Parts: sequence; structure tokens; C-alpha cells
Amino acid sequence: MIAVQNISKQFGKFKVLNHVSFECRRGECIALIGPNGSGKTTVIKSMLGMVIPDSGTITFEGHDIAHDWRYRNRIGYMPQIGRYPENMSIGQVLDMMQDIRKVPENRIDHDLFEAFKIKSLLHKRMGTLSGGTRQKVSACLAFMFGAQALILDEPSAGLDPLSSEILREKILAEKAKNKLVIITSHILSELDELVTEAIYMQDGSLRFHKTMDELQSQTGESKLARAIAAAIRQCDRDAAGVDEGHFKTGRL
Ligand code: ADP
Ligand code: MG
Repeated sequence: MIAVQNISKQFGKFKVLNHVSFECRRGECIALIGPNGSGKTTVIKSMLGMVIPDSGTITFEGHDIAHDWRYRNRIGYMPQIGRYPENMSIGQVLDMMQDIRKVPENRIDHDLFEAFKIKSLLHKRMGTLSGGTRQKVSACLAFMFGAQALILDEPSAGLDPLSSEILREKILAEKAKNKLVIITSHILSELDELVTEAIYMQDGSLRFHKTMDELQSQTGESKLARAIAAAIRQCDRDAAGVDEGHFKTGRL
């Protein structure tokens, strides 16, 4: 559904993405994992056309996104930090987005509004909201248009435990409809039983992209957090093994 092909990005002298390639298929829930500053948000923003890579291409359903913005209507996006006009009320922001996306009222997905009890908050101005409520508004916006692809950047950051669980159940329900879900999170335990694949990034490079089955059979660990930690150690050992090989053959 979305293919990232060899993208690189530099901000000033700083290389943020280094020849990153991966494919995301419909029906998968893909965890994008990596330390702070490893380039996860930059990859996501590149997929949305909010950051333009210096080189490489990104395709959505086989079409290069650089030449056509319409694909964005088919993505629900929850940003890591949602920025909204501070003087607008929640209700006005929701109406504005509905006007922009042009999705008729009878096709709007109200699940999260109801679960998060947003109705009683519609009059509140965005500038006065707590971080958690702002996150709930971002979640409602990502899911309300029934998009086939959902890109969620640290969706549970700032959410209380009950709201995180509501969001998790919603993600599971959408995944069951054969949608693509891409999700980043610092808390790997909350991705358990959700993700089917994991992409690990470090210093702007993709270290591995594996299915959960591969990760579990390779590491013998069933939990995502432990499987990822073991896979990173294996990856590091393999890299060290290559360096040692160079040493032995007298190349260093
Ligand atoms: P992650 O989401 O994995 O924490 P980011 O993609 O947000 O990482 O950032 C990767 C690196 O790129 C960070 O060092 C960040 O400071 C830098 N960066 C991100 N956006 C910009 C920008 N617009 N200008 C300069 N540097 C940026
Ligand atoms: Mg980020």
C-alpha cells in the first residue's frame, strides 16, 4: 500500500534519514520503533508529504506521492504533537476538518467521540485543553473519516490508562477491517497483541524490518519488548562480527 524507497533527508549538516526503504501492506499493523531522534517522525512526515526527502521515492498504491496530494485523503494521521488554532473550540476544529475532508455526516466514525465523551467538551477552546484531551481530539480526527491507512505517532503519550485502552481497542477494530496501521510508541508493552511487524530504526537508518513471527522464532521471546531487545543485540553482534572479520583479513 505504501512503499518507501531509499529515502534520505538532511537538515543542515545533520543526516536524519539514511537510505531508508520498507513496504507497508494493507492488513498489517506495523510498529515503528527506535530511540529518540532516530528519525521515526521524519519518516512518517515524509510519508505524509510534510517533509520532502532529498532523494528516494515514496509510493501510495503504486503512485509516486510527489506528484499528487490526493492520496492524503486516504490516510488518518495522529501527530506526535497536535497543533491547532488555539482560539477555536473543539467543535469548530472538528467541523473545519469535516469541511476540508468532505466526508458526509453519515460516513463519519463517531466511536472515539463517544468513548472519550467529547460531546460535553465541544465548547472548550483548544488553547485551554490539557495534553490528554488534546491527544483525544487528535485521535478522533485520525479515525473519524474512515481512512484505509492510519499513521499514529506516539498515540498514547499523555493519555490516561483507560483512554489508552480505548484507543488500543479501536486500533484493533480497524486492523480487523484489513486497514494498514503504522504506529510508533515508546512503550513497547502496549504494542503487544497489536502489531504484526516491527521496523527498528537507529540514527536515521533502518536496522531491521521483521514480522512478529520472524522476531519470535528468531529470538525465542513472545513479548514484543523482549523480542526487540534480543533482535537488537543479535543485530549488534552481527555488525561487530563483520568488523572483526575485516580485522582478521587485515583490512583494518
Ligand atoms: P524521532 O521521532 O525518532 O524521535 P525525529 O524524526 O523527530 O526522531 O527527529 C530525528 C532528528 O532530526 C532529531 O535529531 C531532530 O532533532 C532532527 N529534526 C527533526 N526535524 C527537524 C527539522 N525540521 N529541522 C532540523 N532538525 C530536525
Ligand atoms: Mg517522534
